[in-house]
Amino acid sequence: MDKKVELTDLPGVGAATAEKLKEAGYDTVLSLAVISPGELITVAGVTEQAARKIINAARDKLEMGFESGDELLKRRAQIIKLTTGCKNIDNLIGGGVESCSITECFGIYGSGKTQIAHALAVNVQLPKEKGGASGTAVFIDTEGTFRPERIMQFAKGAGLDPDKALKNIKVARAFNSDHQMILVEKIDDLIAKEKLPVKLVIVDSLTAHFRAEFIGRGTLADRQQKLNKHMHALLRLANTHNLCIYVTNQVMAKPDMFFGDPTEAIGGHIVGHNSSFRIYLRKGKKDTRVAKLIDSPNLPEGETVFMVTEDRIKDI
Ligand code: ADP
Ligand code: MG
Repeated sequence: MDKKVELTDLPGVGAATAEKLKEAGYDTVLSLAVISPGELITVAGVTEQAARKIINAARDKLEMGFESGDELLKRRAQIIKLTTGCKNIDNLIGGGVESCSITECFGIYGSGKTQIAHALAVNVQLPKEKGGASGTAVFIDTEGTFRPERIMQFAKGAGLDPDKALKNIKVARAFNSDHQMILVEKIDDLIAKEKLPVKLVIVDSLTAHFRAEFIGRGTLADRQQKLNKHMHALLRLANTHNLCIYVTNQVMAKPDMFFGDPTEAIGGHIVGHNSSFRIYLRKGKKDTRVAKLIDSPNLPEGETVFMVTEDRIKDI
């Protein structure tokens, strides 16, 4: 929804300087509008005068203006609410997985995170009146758990042609966190060059590579900074193209915890702050699963029960 201004559109920023800035994590005009001149001098090796000129231009380029309430309301009306196929979960999160935000499911192994991802990849293809967006899904698979067979089963359950549904999902296996981040950047091309109506981007799992790679090397702060950058790229994509983002996250054991739930989500407050909707999944009685909404700014915290079946995510 916002226009993309390139760094090289700024006076005094050529390709080489833009590259240096991007490497240091300053990859948007906004990041330059709020950088300090000192930091810019250090990172890009420019003079103080040039630094001030770049910062001022970045501020000018940004539409830092205000919007009236009715304009905001109009924009809200375009928000997609994608069905999980399960009314209970849809209601829990205010009607479905929303576009222009990140929805995160976290929970232990086998709690249903990947199953919901598959169901959403199918449901986004449904027409609007059936809870979809007549769109294409992009599935970034970091753990090798994408299963075409499951897509075909969920497609049958949703009343879609299984072969067509499968063709309408673009899957990429991400081999490490850098690869995962590059794949997100390529999604703009799918939309702009290949003209695909991408309305859902799945990253399953968001955190697994980051967690594995930073164990024993690098600092936690480095990992968090990189994860933050990754999530910002996802959010920018969501806002630019009015699309939905669904990510999954693991939990880790809290060894010092004696009461309550002895697990917490990976990625700490970075992932928490960037996700508008956080759903905690756990196993319930028999084969049921429990979904709980965590920390939502405008929805009541609640819990609901569902079940994963052969052809859908089902209400209990
Ligand atoms: P994770 O949270 O680790 O991603 P999954 O989403 O892969 O977990 O959930 C795996 C669970 O989903 C299995 O334990 C099983 O209960 C359920 N499941 C997977 N496939 C089927 C199926 N074809 N029919 C019924 N339940 C299934
Ligand atoms: Mg999984």
